[in-house]
Amino acid sequence: MYDVRIKGTCLIAGVWTKTNIYIEGETIKEVTKTVFAAKQTIDAKDALVIPGIIDPHVHFELDLGFIKSVDDFYSGSVAAVHGGVTSIVDFLAPVDNAEDLVKAYEKRCALAEKSVVDYAFHATIKDPKDDLEVFVKTMKTLDMHTLKLFTTYSDSNRRTYDKEIIELLKLSDRYDIVILAHIENDDMIVIEEDMTYRDLPRSRPPESETTEALKLAGFVENYGGTLYMVHLSSGNTLSALVERYPKIMHKNFLIESCPQYFTFTTDVLDKENGELYTFAPPLRSEEERKRLFELAHEIDTFGTDHCAFMKADKRNRKLKDMPLGIGGIEHSFNVMYRHLGDSVIDRMTESVARIHRLKNKGALKAGYDADLFFFEPEDGVRLEGNHGTSDYSVYEGLKGKGRITHTMIRGTFVLDENGFHERKGKRIKGGKNDG
Ligand SMILES: [Zn+2]
Repeated sequence: MYDVRIKGTCLIAGVWTKTNIYIEGETIKEVTKTVFAAKQTIDAKDALVIPGIIDPHVHFELDLGFIKSVDDFYSGSVAAVHGGVTSIVDFLAPVDNAEDLVKAYEKRCALAEKSVVDYAFHATIKDPKDDLEVFVKTMKTLDMHTLKLFTTYSDSNRRTYDKEIIELLKLSDRYDIVILAHIENDDMIVIEEDMTYRDLPRSRPPESETTEALKLAGFVENYGGTLYMVHLSSGNTLSALVERYPKIMHKNFLIESCPQYFTFTTDVLDKENGELYTFAPPLRSEEERKRLFELAHEIDTFGTDHCAFMKADKRNRKLKDMPLGIGGIEHSFNVMYRHLGDSVIDRMTESVARIHRLKNKGALKAGYDADLFFFEPEDGVRLEGNHGTSDYSVYEGLKGKGRITHTMIRGTFVLDENGFHERKGKRIKGGKNDG
């Protein structure tokens, strides 16, 4: 006899189908229309049953030196649960050698113990000094398979230069890792003394993303490797990549974008509270946003780049002292589902797990972890709830597509009709899924 039977409507081969999910302990054992005995049956009724969202781009307790992002692994993951998010991938602090990588890893593991959802980490490199092969080998021994670099932020010594990027691409093939890149052309970014948040789009123009992305795509075409572009912001960047590098797209050149670029444009910066919409890369024009919608099918994953601050942290600062980042994990699915419908599900679950090597995550299939949520579709519903630490969410009050009523992680409900239930998140094992 199975522990739990969930009766519900699931997306199977692209069709919403009434079926049963059978769970034993932490694991899905069967998904079938056949009815078997179970100790407990839960009827999702009219709700859709969707695999738990995996957010591949999260910054909890990010230390910027002058300020720290306000969601820790606890508050951030509680917000996540209310948005149907059951797994997150956070980033280690950037380091330039293998010895510091181990220390950064241990430090992040200790912080992540507070997490309610399951978690994994991207290693992060800055202006590398050490032997890069040793660095990559060390990552692998720590069960990390993704490595983030920045093409910008030379002012804080975080930039990785072309020679090392090419070397890392070659290593990515040899060691089966994915290179994540924050892509902006460092030389095109201008931060003047007197600039305010209103100058952000001019300070980090869309061309700085486009030119650098094309250069890196060229490296991938020439030298091989797998590169994953984080937080694509510009529709023109996307169309340039699709036009120039169609052969490597979705294979060796992967693209992540975020809800904020689909939802807002530079217009909000000129309105009241415009400083609350500041992040890097910044918002783009309405024309750019339209382009993003037209080519949305070319995007491989959606992540939030969740990096929350308080209103007061954003107020009365010059651009050069502004902490860049917003929260978004609680409403990311609802927002993206409203924008693009069913097509976002795979790109927020199974594809994320495949690309980032998250073992047994992202699908309602036998052998996978029993991570899922119930989504009651309702047109015109207003997004509500802000369970993180920040005193604002840019998404609250906007239109959503339904309500998230239940969230299950490894067979246990952390959110149901009785509210939120405590849980201790687990580190996700790295590796390829069988399914
Ligand atoms: Zn980020």
